[in-house]
Amino acid sequence: MYLRNQTRVVKVGNRFLGGNNPILIQSMTNTKTKDVEATIKQILRLEELGCDIIRVAVLDKEDAYSISKIKAGIHIPLVADIHFDPELALIAISEGVDKIRLNPGNIRDKDKIKEIVERCKEKQIPIRIGVNAGSLPKGYEVNAKNMVRAAHEHIDILEELDFHDIVLSIKASNVDLALEAYKLASEEFPYPLHIGITESGTAFKGLITSSIGLDRILSLGIGNTIRVSLTDKPEFEIMAAKDILKELKLIDNVPTLTSCPTCGRTQIDLIPIAKEVEEYLYTVNKNIHVAVMGCIVNGPGEAREADLGIAGGKGEALIFKKGVPLRKIDEKDIIAELKKEIDSM
Ligand code: SF4
Repeated sequence: MYLRNQTRVVKVGNRFLGGNNPILIQSMTNTKTKDVEATIKQILRLEELGCDIIRVAVLDKEDAYSISKIKAGIHIPLVADIHFDPELALIAISEGVDKIRLNPGNIRDKDKIKEIVERCKEKQIPIRIGVNAGSLPKGYEVNAKNMVRAAHEHIDILEELDFHDIVLSIKASNVDLALEAYKLASEEFPYPLHIGITESGTAFKGLITSSIGLDRILSLGIGNTIRVSLTDKPEFEIMAAKDILKELKLIDNVPTLTSCPTCGRTQIDLIPIAKEVEEYLYTVNKNIHVAVMGCIVNGPGEAREADLGIAGGKGEALIFKKGVPLRKIDEKDIIAELKKEIDSM
C-alpha cells in the first residue's frame, strides 16, 4: 500500500502534492468560468478561507481562453476540468493552467492525447484522472474493483507515454464503496490521491457523510488532497475541509471555536455572534482557541480554558483572555471586540 507520504510528489503550480507535503484543500467554483470577474471574486474569497487549489469547469473555448485572465487575478494553482474535448485541454495548457482534470480513455483521438501529454511534460503540468462510480464504462458493474480497473485504463494510457505526473481520484457517493475503492487504489498506484465523497448532499447531510467518509479514508493514511463536495456555497467546502483536517490533527495553524448550543438561560443573541466569529476565524491562520458561551453557568469555565472567550450576561458579556477576565462589554460590541482581540493574538 502506498500511504500518503509514500506517494510520488507532483508539482501543481506553486504547490507540491503527495509525499511528505501537507494535505491540500480543494474546491471548485460554481460561477460560469467565462465570467472572469465573478470567478476571480469567488476564488479570492476561497483563498482567504484557506483553499489551496481551485478547479474551474471548462465547457467551451471561451472558458478555456479565460484561464490566463483568471490566473492573473488569483494566487493559488488553477485546475481545468475538461471532459471529452482535447482541444480545450490544449488551449488550457497554452493559457497557463496548473493542472488538468481529464480522463484520457474518454478521448478517441489518440494523437491528441499524445499531444496533450507532450505539452504537459514540457510545462510540468500534472493530469488528474477522475474515476466516479456514477460514470463507469458501459457494462461495468459498480464495485471498487471495477473502479480501479477503470482507473487503470486511463493511467495505462499515460504511463505508456512515459507520463507520471498523475493524481488520481476514485470517488463514490457511498462511503463504504469509496473507502474500498481508495484502499484498492492506494495498493495499486504510487500516485497522490485526491479524496472525497462525491455528491454527498446538501451542507447538512453532505457534511455528515463527508466527515465520516473522509475520516475513514484519511485515518488509513491515505489521501493527499481533499474536497468536501457539498450542494451549497464552495466557501462551506473549504470551511468543512479545514475542520475535518483539524479534528484529525492533519493540519496546524487553524483556530478552534467552542460555542454553546444556547438555552433558556441565554440572554444575548448568541447564534449570529458565534457564526460571525466562526467565519472570521476561518480567515485567520493561527492555532488559537476561542469560546463563545451564552451564560455564566458553563461560560466562564470554557472561556477560561480557551485563549479567548466570552461568557454572556444580560445584554452584555464578560471577555476572558488566557483565562483572565478582562472586562465587561456591551452585547452590540462583542463581535468587534472579539475580532480585535483575535487580531492581537
Ligand atoms: S453555556 Fe449557558 S447559555 Fe449556553 S447552553 Fe450552557 S447553560 Fe445554556
